[in-house]
Amino acid sequence: MNYTRQDYCQALRAFLELGDGIPELRQYSPALKALLQGLEDGYLRRDTLVPECACPWCGYRFDAAMAADPAYPDATPSPGDVSVCTSCAQILVFADDLTVRAAMPGEVEFTPELRRAQQAARTQRTDR
Ligand SMILES: [Zn+2]
Repeated sequence: MNYTRQDYCQALRAFLELGDGIPELRQYSPALKALLQGLEDGYLRRDTLVPECACPWCGYRFDAAMAADPAYPDATPSPGDVSVCTSCAQILVFADDLTVRAAMPGEVEFTPELRRAQQAARTQRTDR
C-alpha cells in the first residue's frame, strides 16, 4: 500500500492524541510533534540513498538525502547541488560521487528554500 503525506500526518496526530494520555508513550510526544511539523511543512520527503560520508563541518555521518524545496518533493541530488547538514545546518555541496564537501565562500546563493532548510535543521537539532 502507498501512503500519502496526509495519511502519515493523520496517523501521527491520532497517535499523539492517544500517546499524551499514556505515560509510557508521553516521552515520544516531542519527537512525534517535530516529525508531524516536518511533514506538514513539507521538509520531510523521500530519502535518496547516497554513499555514506561525513559532514566536513561537524563529522555527522549519513547515507541519505532528501529534497528541501517543497515544489520538488521527489528531487534527487546531482553533483553540484547544494545541501544542508541536518546535524549542524552548515551548507554542503554534492561532489561528483554524491558525497559532500563544504561550500566555498561565495559559492552558494542563499535562496529562501536554503534558508528554510537551514532553519528546519536547526529546529531538529534543538529538539534532540
Ligand atoms: Zn554537519
